[in-house]
Amino acid sequence: MSVKQIQEEILKLKKEQDVLILAHYYQPIEIQEIADHLGGSLGLSRLANKADTDYIIFAGVDFMAETASILNQNKKVLIPNPESCCPMAAYLTADKVKEFRLNNPNLPVVVYVNTTAAVKAESDICCTSANAVDIVKRISSEFKTKTVLFGPDANLADYVEQKSGIKCIKMPEEGNCYVHSQLTIDDMEKIRIAYPNGEILVHPECIREVRELADFVGSTGQMYNRVKNDTTVEKDFCIGTEKGLMERMAQDFPKKNFHLISEKLLCYNMKKNTIELMRYVLEHLDDPMFEVKVPSEIAERALIPIERMLEFS
Ligand code: SF4
Repeated sequence: MSVKQIQEEILKLKKEQDVLILAHYYQPIEIQEIADHLGGSLGLSRLANKADTDYIIFAGVDFMAETASILNQNKKVLIPNPESCCPMAAYLTADKVKEFRLNNPNLPVVVYVNTTAAVKAESDICCTSANAVDIVKRISSEFKTKTVLFGPDANLADYVEQKSGIKCIKMPEEGNCYVHSQLTIDDMEKIRIAYPNGEILVHPECIREVRELADFVGSTGQMYNRVKNDTTVEKDFCIGTEKGLMERMAQDFPKKNFHLISEKLLCYNMKKNTIELMRYVLEHLDDPMFEVKVPSEIAERALIPIERMLEFS
C-alpha cells in the first residue's frame, strides 16, 4: 500500500472518531501532512491546552505527549511509538533538580520543556527555545536574582546567558541534544562557501562557535516565521536544525531554496513514529500500550510551571 493510501485511511479514521493529531516539525513529512496542527514545542503546548477532543495523538517524543497529558488530564493522550524518547531529557532527573536546589537555595529553577513530568514538577517555571531568554529574564526579576538554575540543555543555557546577561547554572554541565550539538565549525564554513549569498539559520541548541557563524539563531517556530516573512525571491536558506523542518518549509515555500547544513541533522528518536504506526493507533485508540498518562499527583505539580510559562509568553 502506498503512503498516499495510508494517509487517506488515516484521514478517514480520524473523521469517524473524536481525535486531534498534533505533530512536531521534526516528524516524518508524511505524518506532518496528515496532522491537524503542526508546530514547535511552544505552539503545540498552547494547542494541547485548547484541545476539545476525547483523544489527542501526539506525533513527537515522550515529553511532548506528557505535556499534553498534564494539560489534559481528562483526555486520552496517545503516542504512535512509545519508544520515541528524547535523549536530552534523560540528562536531568527529579532527584538531580532537588540536589541542585539544595546546593543553591533561593535560586529559581528553569527547566526546558524537554524534560520528564517529574522534573517539571520540581521546577519553578518551564521554557521552550522560543521563549527561554524572556522566561529567564522574568523569573530572575521575580526572584530578585541575577542567577538561575537551568537544565538540561547546556548549549541553550549558554545562549540564554549570552542574550540575557543572567548567569545560568547548568543542570547538568554536559546536557545536550545529539542532533544539534554535532554541527561543527567545519560544517558552517562549508555551507557558507557553497551558498555565499544564502542565509544560515541555526537552533540555539547548537554549540556557541556554530551559533556565532550563523545569520540567525532561533527555535523551529522562529525559523519558520523568519523564512515565511522573507520577501526576497529565490533566496537560499541553509537550515541548521532537524531535517523535518526543512522538508516542511520546502513544501510551504516552494519558491525558496533550502539546504540542510549537514545530513547529520536527523533525530532518530523523532523518526520512530511512522505513518503505519499512526494508522495502527487510530485503529486501536483504547489500547493502553499507546497511552501516555502522567499520574495526577505529578501532573498537578508539573502544571504550575507550564501554566506559568504560557502566561509569560
Ligand atoms: S531533536 Fe534533540 S531535543 Fe529534539 S527530540 Fe531529538 S534529541 Fe531531543
